[in-house]
This record gives sequence, C-alpha cells and structure tokens, in this order.
Amino acid sequence: MTTQTITPPATDDALVFGALRAGIDDIDADLLGLLARRAALARDIGLAKRAAGKPVFDANRENAKAQQLRQQARKLGLGDGLARQLMGLLTRGSFAQQMPQGPAETVATTPPDSESFRLARLEPGRGPTVVTVGEAQLGGGLFEVIAGPCAVETQQQIEQAADHARACGVRIMRGGAFKPRTSPYEFQGLGLQGLQWLADAAHARGMAIVTEVTDPADAATVAQHADMLQVGARNMQNVPLLRACAQTGRPVMLKRGASATIREWLCAAEYLLLAGNPKVVLCERGIRTFERETRNTLDLSSVVALRGMTHLPVMVDPSHAAGRHEWIMPLCRAAHACGAQAVIVEMHPCRDQALCDKRQALSPGQLMQITEELQQLPTRR
Ligand code: PEP
Ligand code: MN
Repeated sequence: MTTQTITPPATDDALVFGALRAGIDDIDADLLGLLARRAALARDIGLAKRAAGKPVFDANRENAKAQQLRQQARKLGLGDGLARQLMGLLTRGSFAQQMPQGPAETVATTPPDSESFRLARLEPGRGPTVVTVGEAQLGGGLFEVIAGPCAVETQQQIEQAADHARACGVRIMRGGAFKPRTSPYEFQGLGLQGLQWLADAAHARGMAIVTEVTDPADAATVAQHADMLQVGARNMQNVPLLRACAQTGRPVMLKRGASATIREWLCAAEYLLLAGNPKVVLCERGIRTFERETRNTLDLSSVVALRGMTHLPVMVDPSHAAGRHEWIMPLCRAAHACGAQAVIVEMHPCRDQALCDKRQALSPGQLMQITEELQQLPTRR
C-alpha cells in the first residue's frame, strides 16, 4: 500500500487570517456590548442596595458565584485560571459600578506647619489629584499594579516581560534604562537603546511606561519615549533633576529617599509642583534602619500619614523594600490596606538570569497572583 501525501493548496495568508481575525473582532464587540449591559445592571443593583441600606459586597454570594463559574468553565474546557481571572474582572467591575459615583465628600484638614509644602498639602476645598498615565488613573479610585523588570537587558527579555505583564492586566510597565547602581562596577543599564526597546515593547501591547531619569540633561530625551518619569530614592533631593523632570510636563513618580523624612519628601514634591507640573505621585520604597533581614524597612505608616497630609496619589514599591520575591505579595496587600493607590513591582521573565535585583524579581506566575487579587480593587478614600 502506498501512502500519498496531500499538499494543501497554497492559501493567501491575509485572506485566511483576515477572516479568522474578523471572527474574533465580532466576538470582542459582542463581549463589550455584554459587559456594558452588565455594568448598567450592576449600577442599578448598587442603587437598590444603597437605598435598602445593604452592603455592596456579599462574600458568600461572591464565593458561590466563583464556584459556579469555575464549574461552567471546566465543562467548556477553559480551565480554572481563566474562570478565576474572569471572575476577578467581573466582580471588580461590578463593585466599581456599585460604589457611589464621583469623589466622596472629604473633610480635608490642613496639616500643621505645612507652609514648606503648601502646594502638596491637603486643604479644605482642594480635591484629590488624579494622575493619568496611559489607561491608568493613579489616585482615581482603583488600585493599579505597575510591573516590569528592574532593568532592560535585551530586546528579547523586554518583549517577553511585556507579554507577561500585559497578560496579567498591567497597564503601566516599568524598566530601568539609566540605572543608578550603588557600585560603579554593577550593570548600569543600556541607556537610550534600552529605553527604546522598553517603549516599543510596551506601547505595541497597549501599555504605558515608567522609567528612571538620573541626569537632568537626559530628562527631555527620556520624556520623548516615556509616559512617566521616575526620580529614584538616591536622587530625591537632587533639585536640578527635579526641575528638569518637572519641566518635561510628564507625570513624575517621586521615590522616597532611603533616609528622608516624610516632610523632606513632601518638600521635594513641592519643587516639582512649584515648577509647574501638577502630575506628581509619591512612592514609598523602604527606608534605612538597623534591620538587615529586609533590604529596606517598608514604612507603610508613611502611606497612612501621607493620605492625611497630601492630595497627591501615594504608591508603594515593595520590591526594593523587601528584597525577596516571596515577601512581595503580602506587602502589596498591606499597601492596599493602608490606603496606597498603586504598587510598583519587579518581574523578570527568567529571573535566574536577571542582571540586577534577581533576588526580588517576581516570576510571571507570581505577578499573575498579585494582579488577579489586587489590580483595579477600589482604593481607600
Ligand atoms: C528602581 O526602581 O529601579 C530603583 C533603583 O529604585 P530605588 O530608587 O527605590 O532604589
Ligand atoms: Mn531594582
């Protein structure tokens, strides 16, 4: 018996893929329509619950619903992971819809002795600042998880990292191109080439980027590629750098210096505001104490204090504080519980090969756990 190999006729790639993609586009449009209908129903339920004085969140109902969705997903061969993600997305969406719309009435009181940071301070009548970066609204009421590698190392590494970040629902990706390393013998980053790779990889996947600026002379160039500029802990009080970053008009993430007091940090933010840039976000990243088990001591009390002192959004970097990937998840939860409006974490697609901060790099799977639990949760007002 002879076997005959049948060669399929040559097909026009654009024709086949075009038709398949059009099918996907139709399904996506249907899904969006369904989500809009779901959101409208959730809003009505929220109104009815508030009118009846009932709480918005019912843990038993949510658990039963999650169980039911998992069973249905299994029957359809979709697996638990997808059901879990879907459930997270839907409950968070509903929850956000059911919350009272618009900013809550806050009775802001001016902190004592706050003339030195008069633009940054809370004041009656001054609403909270919301900083928009790409699709994300820092301080806008929903928790944001920013993630990416410590440093851009190769184009392949950054593209893989971007794939994982996007799959986890990340909307702002981090990556260092200009690295202020403690020792001059350590990897210093790839500079502009690294920044371009990061920007291309993230923007192609619909994510914005945040990256550090270390030299005032680089601020304008970095701002051409980056959606948000980072002033690192080592440079918190570098006034020429603060002014140069502010003048680009890009949002600025200002990290707390390792030995800076909260007031010194607010005064540094004041330089940015006074230079005419209102888009400032404060990032707690741990301070220097006698403790050696952790890389730095994560001062979450600063988050609580700041939320009562400033209208600026406050976020937390647990990676540089803990220095160990296993400790990042609980610290993210704690940051959210204390009123932080976002976290920034380090994730590497192959962390054993990371050129810097390998010990604290999350795996893509660990990042997925964090985003599934926390991304877009309502934040404390
Ligand atoms: C970083 O985020 O890459 C970094 C160096 O952090 P920090 O300035 O907090 O040390
Ligand atoms: Mn790092």
